[in-house]
Amino acid sequence: MKQAPRKEALVQTLRFYEALGFDHLPFDLPETGAGSAEDKAETLDRLRHTLGDCSRCKLSGGRTNIVFGEGNPAAEIMFIGEGPGRDEDAQGRPFVGAAGKLLTNLIKKMGFEREDVYIGNIIKCRPKNNRDPEEDEIAACLPFITGQARIIRPKAIMALGRISAHTLLGINTPISRLRGRFKEFQGIPVMPTFHPAFVLRQYNADTRGKVWSDLREVMAELGLSEG
Ligand code: URA
Repeated sequence: MKQAPRKEALVQTLRFYEALGFDHLPFDLPETGAGSAEDKAETLDRLRHTLGDCSRCKLSGGRTNIVFGEGNPAAEIMFIGEGPGRDEDAQGRPFVGAAGKLLTNLIKKMGFEREDVYIGNIIKCRPKNNRDPEEDEIAACLPFITGQARIIRPKAIMALGRISAHTLLGINTPISRLRGRFKEFQGIPVMPTFHPAFVLRQYNADTRGKVWSDLREVMAELGLSEG
């Protein structure tokens, strides 16, 4: 039983190379997280190319645009949400609606611009009516966010909301209990926190305070102080 997370990590690794277009394991496996920003940008482009005009799951039928993710290929911090909403589906960019505005403000509060960080999602296509993504949809898309994280290899990932945290960490603990403490995904520290859309719905100082406290933990991990 203790072996399960390592086995899962191995499966993820193999899916990652499959998503990059390998049909066998090369002898000289590329180092993950290695290379310049240009190298990483090129590998991310390759991964995007492999994703193609994806029809790996049923979400492809209802989407307007694939939302691959965007930002600095050499980012120190990566934000991973759940999946595109209406605005993101229309524009093909992550977190550009109301939740995105809040996320952008939080990024600025940390002392970054949006272009400094990398923003992605667990799934790349919008589920109709913003329903939760289903297991098969997450499974079909998982190699891509795994690949993005391995290529960028940021110093920290913020998992935004329940679906992101549960998928990356492979556990079902409620987000209210998961948040605030670092866990790991592919050897990268992950800080789970509430989803910005949840924060907006709550409109409550306590939830906002907890998200800010989680961001400060990440800043400390990155060796940053509050501006
Ligand atoms: N919510 C998400 O989880 N991701 C987005 O890109 C937008 C809203």
